[in-house]
Amino acid sequence: SKGQIQLIFGPMFSGKTTELLRRVNRYRIAKYKTLLIKFAKDVRYDEECVSTHDRHTGTARKALCLKECLAECEVHDVIGIDEGQFFPDILEVAEALANKGKTVIVAALDGTYQREGFGDIIKLVPKAEKIDKLSAVCIICNEDAAYTRRFTAETAVHRPSSCPRETCPLSMSVSGQVSSVDIQADISKFQVELIGGADKYMAVCRECFQREIPAE
Ligand code: ADP
Ligand code: MG
Ligand code: ZN
Repeated sequence: SKGQIQLIFGPMFSGKTTELLRRVNRYRIAKYKTLLIKFAKDVRYDEECVSTHDRHTGTARKALCLKECLAECEVHDVIGIDEGQFFPDILEVAEALANKGKTVIVAALDGTYQREGFGDIIKLVPKAEKIDKLSAVCIICNEDAAYTRRFTAETAVHRPSSCPRETCPLSMSVSGQVSSVDIQADISKFQVELIGGADKYMAVCRECFQREIPAE
């Protein structure tokens, strides 16, 4: 079969992992041999599986770099890679596998919370056959959200009065689930590789990316 690279981009909560699982499952139903690979340090919801934010899971091979998995990839037709931006060798391995006839599906953040390219991942664009960028729901105004925004000590302790949601992570933080002390501690770690969920990141639209989050 002919190899190819498919990219699933988008901010956090945009359904990248959901879409990755959907595509891989379709190939599995069609009797292709499928392999899911997850980043070993991402144990947010599940140690052994790829997991969506709403806890749909798929059994996965854990790896820190993709070269670890080359032997397994060899005996599969379709390779699904979640959190592709975290793998240092994503460019060369995705290209090599596709050249060997594999269908390589990569779900990844295209940008950091500062809207810079996430590592080398966007260099896959000219190599890919198919590219989609998904959107989440802006947690502040409900429009389509193309970006990820990170809580700062400021945004963690103040819920914007415009926030319409019970489930807004900003309101959760008010109830004490996120303290500004934790957030400060996190900021001192290597920021871009920091792995988190709704406690650390939110999906926002262009306007709300720029919006100052007002104190109440
Ligand atoms: P990703 O892999 O892109 O981070 P997932 O596929 O893991 O996304 O999760 C998508 C799910 O996240 C949605 O089906 C929805 O249930 C949930 N969700 C939570 N917050 C949001 C949001 N702000 N916008 C869209 N979906 C959200
Ligand atoms: Mg995901
Ligand atoms: Zn918005």
